Parts: sequence; structure tokens; C-alpha cells
Amino acid sequence: MREQAASFGAEFVFDKVIGVDFNHATKMVYANQAVYTGRSVIISTGSMGRGTRVKGEDHLLGRGVSYCATCDGAFYRDREVAVAGSSDEAVEEALFLTKFARRVHFLSPTPEVKAPAALVEELQQNPRVILRKGASLLEVLGENKVEAVRFVQRGQPEETLPVAGVFIYLQGGKPETDFLQGQLEVTDSGCLQVNHEFQTSIEGVYAVGDVLCDHIKQAVIAAGEGATAAIALEKNLHGRSKMTVDWSK
Ligand SMILES: Cc1cc2nc3c(=O)[nH]c(=O)nc-3n(C[C@H](O)[C@H](O)[C@H](O)COP(=O)(O)OP(=O)(O)OC[C@H]3O[C@@H](n4cnc5c(N)ncnc54)[C@H](O)[C@@H]3O)c2cc1C
Repeated sequence: MREQAASFGAEFVFDKVIGVDFNHATKMVYANQAVYTGRSVIISTGSMGRGTRVKGEDHLLGRGVSYCATCDGAFYRDREVAVAGSSDEAVEEALFLTKFARRVHFLSPTPEVKAPAALVEELQQNPRVILRKGASLLEVLGENKVEAVRFVQRGQPEETLPVAGVFIYLQGGKPETDFLQGQLEVTDSGCLQVNHEFQTSIEGVYAVGDVLCDHIKQAVIAAGEGATAAIALEKNLHGRSKMTVDWSK
């Protein structure tokens, strides 16, 4: 795919964007090594901007630490896993994991699970789930893969629980938008606002993929949104009223 894009003139650059100026016809993107300019920009910086990590989390990411049960759940058929979190997302992911895992240890850092009552009820009734309220995940243990988690439950001594995987939903995925410095409009929940063509509040600036927080985090969806934005961008650059696809010409 990369070679094909390059054959059509795409240039690949590795650089860290630290600021932008979208207030003029020419959009400015300031990065560590250069300033990039263009008539249009598609933002696709994802949502891996979560702050604090648990000890061992970074080291074992992709080796038993995961943030996506729908992506990685099937690797834990008949195994024991832990889910750390208290949100709707954490509960939904834990319930999904019960299709595969023999046992799902749900470590809720809060004394009560902060999800809708019906979801919490479903979690409590599931025979594969062990719900531990007020349980703080302290460390993910393992040499080259996850072997256990260390946690403490209020008023009780620390425990080490052998598990093959740990799914962490402690602060949610935070969209990587700091570099935008508030130049684009966001919703009440802080998500970038886009229209049906993925254009943001500024003409010529688009946003796609996980950086849009209210959407399903799947590669195919991010890619599809990128394709829609690219076609819309091309339409706007050429002053056409409708998006067209190659085979309709
Ligand atoms: C552990 C895990 C497993 C997953 N498994 C699956 C799976 O099996 N199937 C599936 O469909 N989906 C899976 N997903 C979800 C999938 O990875 C995402 O939905 C998809 O990658 C989103 O694409 P994106 O382009 O929006 O963001 P990303 O793929 O996150 O890409 C964002 C890119 O922007 C870069 N970036 C961020 N900030 C800056 C900056 N300031 N300057 C320059 N670059 C920046 C990042 O380094 C990154 O390369 C998984 C996710 C995780 C975390």
C-alpha cells in the first residue's frame, strides 16, 4: 500500500507535530524538524494519549497488555484475564471477554462500577466474572509476557493474581489533540466536531480515525474514514459540488 501511494506521489515523513496554524488559506503544520504547509490537512493522530501508566504496562503492551477486547480477546480462550476499569467501556469489554476467557477478574478502582445498572447487573450475574470493587491495579508482572497482576483492594493486603492478559480501561483513550491548541471546535465531551465528510469546523481541515473519540476503534473504520476525507478533500480542492469516485467517470 505504501509503495502504491508513493507511486502516485505521496511523500512519507517521520516528524512530531507540535503546533498548527489553520487560520489562513495555507495551513501551517509545525513539527520538530520542519514546517509543513498545504491547502488541506487530514488529522489522524489517534487516541493513545492516555496519561499515567501502571508499572509494567508499557513494557508488556502487545504481550498480554491490551486496550481492545474485540481485537485481542480470542487470544485468551480458556485463560484467565483481568480487566481494570469502571466505565461502560470496561464492562462491555469484560462481558465480551467472557465469550473466550475461562475467568475474567474485573478490578474496579471505584467502590461501585460506574456503568448503567443493566450492564453492571449483567456483569455481576455472569458466572465467568469475579468482580472486585475498590481494587487498584498496581503493576503488571511478567518477563516477556503477562504472567500476573498486582493489585490492592480497599482494607485488604496486596494480592498477586496469575493472569495471561490484562485489559486496561483506567482513563480511557485520550485523543491526541494537544498540538491543535484549541483551534478546532469540539463537542461537550471534548471530541473534535466533524461533518459527514469528516471536515472539522475549519474548511480544508479534516479529522479521521481514533482521534474522533465517539466512534468504534477499528483499523478498517479509520481507513474508511480516511478514504472518505481524502475524496471530500479532493472534491473541495477542485471546486466540485459532489464527491466522485474513479469508476463513475
Ligand atoms: C493493543 C491494540 C490492539 C488493536 N487491535 C486491533 C485489531 O486487531 N483490529 C482492528 O481493526 N483494530 C485494532 N486496534 C485499533 C486500531 O489500532 C485503531 O482503531 C487504528 O489504528 C486507528 O487508526 P488511526 O490512524 O486513527 O490512529 P493510530 O493507528 O493510533 O495512528 C496515529 C498515529 O499518529 C501518530 N501521532 C500522534 N500524535 C502525533 C504528533 N503530534 N505528531 C506526529 N504523529 C503523531 C502516532 O504516533 C500514530 O502513528 C487495536 C488497538 C490497540 C491499542
